[in-house]
Amino acid sequence: MANTFEVKNPATGEVLQTITRHSETEINDKLQAGYDAFHTWKKTNAHYRAKLLTKWSALIQDNKQSIAEVMTKENGKPLTESLGEVDYATSYIDWYAEEAKRIYGRTIPTHADGKRLLVTRHPIGLVAAITPWNFPAAMMTRKAAPALAAGCTFIAKPAEDTPLTTIRLIELAHEAGFPTDVVQHVNGRGSVVGKLFTSSSLVRKVTFTGSTPVGKQLIQQSANTVKNVTMELGGHAPLIIAEDADIDLAVEQTIASKFRNAGQTCICANRILVHSSIRDIFADKLTEKVKELKVGNGLEDNVQIGPVINKDGYTKIANQVDDAINKGATLLTGGTYDIDNEKETYFVHPTILNNVSDDMDIMHYETFGPVAPITTFTSLDEAIQVANDTPFGLAAYFFTNNYKIGTYLSENLDYGIIGWNDGATSAAHAPFGGMKESGLGREGGSEGIEPYLETKYISIGNFLE
Ligand code: NAP
Repeated sequence: MANTFEVKNPATGEVLQTITRHSETEINDKLQAGYDAFHTWKKTNAHYRAKLLTKWSALIQDNKQSIAEVMTKENGKPLTESLGEVDYATSYIDWYAEEAKRIYGRTIPTHADGKRLLVTRHPIGLVAAITPWNFPAAMMTRKAAPALAAGCTFIAKPAEDTPLTTIRLIELAHEAGFPTDVVQHVNGRGSVVGKLFTSSSLVRKVTFTGSTPVGKQLIQQSANTVKNVTMELGGHAPLIIAEDADIDLAVEQTIASKFRNAGQTCICANRILVHSSIRDIFADKLTEKVKELKVGNGLEDNVQIGPVINKDGYTKIANQVDDAINKGATLLTGGTYDIDNEKETYFVHPTILNNVSDDMDIMHYETFGPVAPITTFTSLDEAIQVANDTPFGLAAYFFTNNYKIGTYLSENLDYGIIGWNDGATSAAHAPFGGMKESGLGREGGSEGIEPYLETKYISIGNFLE
């Protein structure tokens, strides 16, 4: 019997495509092909690799509308967000097309006559990537672009909920001129493919974006072959609004951070900490704006909140909302759902919870849904203590126009990404990644190519002096 899975539209339940999983033998063959291809690909020059990346980016842009439609159909996010994600995805390719040309080595002043000391940089080898469903284009290009720019070969395993966008982007990479064995994808269950990727001695690097428990498992599995790993894992972002904050800006940016992709982003605000003196005015203004958000099929006009990805996602959200209400939180808006178990479609109406307290699950676990929990603080140190009281350290936000408060918060929040009066921080030219259990390594920026490079030190003796 064929080992297949269905890709469904989370807004309608329609089956978009049935995909056959690759067998273990096929996956191992692909790993061998990627490994073999590395020996010729690594010898290509940086400017040639940059040209191919630029061509790939242009082809994606030429097909932007159709790629965005596929993304909205398989992921559920509004079409405007999918179009934005295509731009975000190509911005990584464009950035690393340039960075390919800046992989510099160095010479070290020698300690002995007749010696020359050189440091050179080399691609690490075959890179295996596992990506999530919430950004099916950008999470792949943010790994593929620096890997290919560095001279590595690349193989991706997209999430089974959203493989179609990734498959299309890889087709376009081949159209741009990348040899088929240099950029590949596999279809398969995460648990199965993850074991093959991590146990293979042909793979030198595993790069993963997804949940923290799976990331921990992949780190353990990679230990046997001492693989280099990059881990972009879960978040639990605090968003702090200081007493002096511009409240309208804080409301606007809270919505941008919290409700994008129906709250299914790793960096979205998950705990809103408002100074007690401005809590009521902030909560009123936020509620008024959030009530205007339109929920529906992301392909329809003006929809801002699509469905959540699947039943597990919905159940987790609904349980956190119930838990908070049972423990005394006040519902300001939302808390309602349009669900169809037969079609497997799950829409969560944007929800605001007030009077949230530390004993509630929502204060401790990533929600991954359009729910904004509001709590208060009276001193900055109290806000920092609550914000840092989590094993996660991906993104944190705060709103203040006071430079002393802003600097103090920037310096004391244990997070890899800080948004100061800014709820939309991501950019290809800036390092993205988390502290603590939110991950290892950074993607984007000049930092983002480093994990794909090995350093070689060459000591040359017997020079004429
Ligand atoms: P997930 O369950 O960890 O899945 C992510 C990917 O891992 C999918 O491709 C999945 O494949 C695969 N997978 C599942 N179990 C696996 C296993 N045992 N071994 C190897 N691979 C496995 O995460 P998710 O729920 O899809 O994604 C949401 C999570 O990703 C959130 O925690 C979010 O914060 C995090 N995230 C982090 C970042 C970041 O940059 N830090 C960005 C986006 C998302 P299948 O689909 O085949 O199961």
